Amino acid sequence: MDDLRLADDPTTKPMLHVTDSARLRQAIRGELVVPDDPAYDQARRVWNGMVDKRPLAVIYCADSDDVITAVTFTRSRNLLVAVRAGGHNVAGSSVCDAGVVIDVSRMKRIEVDPVRRVARAQAGLNLGEFDAATQSHGLATTMGINADTGIAGLTLGGGFGKLGRKHGLTCDNLVAAEIVTADGRLLRASATENVDLFWALRGGGGNFGIVTTFEYKLYPVGPVVLAGSVLHAYNDARAAMRFYHAFASRAPDELSLDAALVTAPSGERCFGISACYIGPMDEGNQVLKPLREYGTPVEDQIAPVSYLQIQSAGDSIFPRGRRYFWKAQFMREITDGAIDVLLASYATAPIESRVVFQQVGGAISRVPITDTPYANRDALYDCFPISIWDNSAADAPHIRWARDLWDAMRPFSTGGVYANNLGEEGSDRGSCLRRELRETGGFEVEVRSDEFFPPQSEHQAGRVGIKRKV
Ligand SMILES: Cc1cc2nc3c(=O)[nH]c(=O)nc-3n(C[C@H](O)[C@H](O)[C@H](O)COP(=O)(O)OP(=O)(O)OC[C@H]3O[C@@H](n4cnc5c(N)ncnc54)[C@H](O)[C@@H]3O)c2cc1C
Repeated sequence: MDDLRLADDPTTKPMLHVTDSARLRQAIRGELVVPDDPAYDQARRVWNGMVDKRPLAVIYCADSDDVITAVTFTRSRNLLVAVRAGGHNVAGSSVCDAGVVIDVSRMKRIEVDPVRRVARAQAGLNLGEFDAATQSHGLATTMGINADTGIAGLTLGGGFGKLGRKHGLTCDNLVAAEIVTADGRLLRASATENVDLFWALRGGGGNFGIVTTFEYKLYPVGPVVLAGSVLHAYNDARAAMRFYHAFASRAPDELSLDAALVTAPSGERCFGISACYIGPMDEGNQVLKPLREYGTPVEDQIAPVSYLQIQSAGDSIFPRGRRYFWKAQFMREITDGAIDVLLASYATAPIESRVVFQQVGGAISRVPITDTPYANRDALYDCFPISIWDNSAADAPHIRWARDLWDAMRPFSTGGVYANNLGEEGSDRGSCLRRELRETGGFEVEVRSDEFFPPQSEHQAGRVGIKRKV
């Protein structure tokens, strides 16, 4: 591999030298896709159709050896690298212009040990694949609500989901990880091996290396849970939002309550509360009674439903390839002032937009703040306006609406942001994460952007080095 070279003729567009490509192809078990290949246009795409970047190459790794080869090659050539698993990062951080995408999405082996209640999962699995494999043993761990999301990005940034309030974030349930570091070594990180790295992997985001395998703690769940939503008319939304906050604030850990301002297919605006109870059905029926008896909902769809169905509830709302823009911030409470801002803004929002509240708290809030780099354990909601559309000519109004609402909601936020929902604000908000860590004391936070991916994209640069001070 030593004589692999980049074409450096400044008059041509950046590309890998044909000899480089041929040798790289021979050196890996997976697939190399370069701009001349028919598969290139598909290979450079990610979930968000707004993202239109042109990497020099996409390396689809088949195993850890391929990841080592890809890291060694790109590092020796000082190439910009983006790491991709599910491709769901809203800002498109898993693809880059004029660099190399190291893609692990074809690494999908999973072994579930039902006795030890541990899953060993390769980094290319998406949530749907992971949940299906663990549910075949009646087990699960916290994962998000869109089957297409990658377990890798989600775990490394934290990981919310219906089990989070009962069992903690996805990263809180990480037992070990195997990771290829910048120097091309495959390391294992756990509570007893490479402990600083293990600390960083649990919520610090990507970029400490390329994780090839995760091991998770599992819990008995389902297969059927009590879940679904109640929908209130927009005229009743103010009172329903007050009720939601009051009910969510005293919810038991077994209950997860998300909410959203949405527009029905008829064009009518509504406020929906989506509940999921992880526990015995009769208990769930009791706990959910006040929610179902509150006000005059226009719809109540709460019923026993398969856990797997709940876990893919977001699939039809967020299909791959549409245009998306969102900005998130954490909140501790939903005050009347916040409700005023939300209702005024949503009344004139673009038609397919929504404002989402993802409830956190519960077990997530009881993990000591210094145990992991995840710094927002005191929040009760992640709140974000989402714009969804298809026509690039309509980019400006959709982006403006979400930005304006996010700005107007700042006074009601904790100031913290979920690393997995970092959007356009990238490194600025990344530094917000770092600042919060500093304030927790006992931690030293370094930006070591030259250590792993040298000429780093601005999005990733802010999240490179969070290090535990010993
Ligand atoms: C529709 C939708 C629904 C979502 N729902 C939820 C939810 O319910 N709960 C929740 O917590 N989050 C949710 N998210 C946010 C999600 O957690 C992040 O977008 C996450 O980054 C997705 O992971 P991915 O592997 O698909 O991302 P990718 O875009 O592939 O990767 C994102 C970043 O993760 C890092 N990364 C990826 N793979 C690796 C690896 N193997 N090793 C090291 N670093 C790596 C890289 O820095 C990369 O830039 C949702 C996102 C979308 C788009």
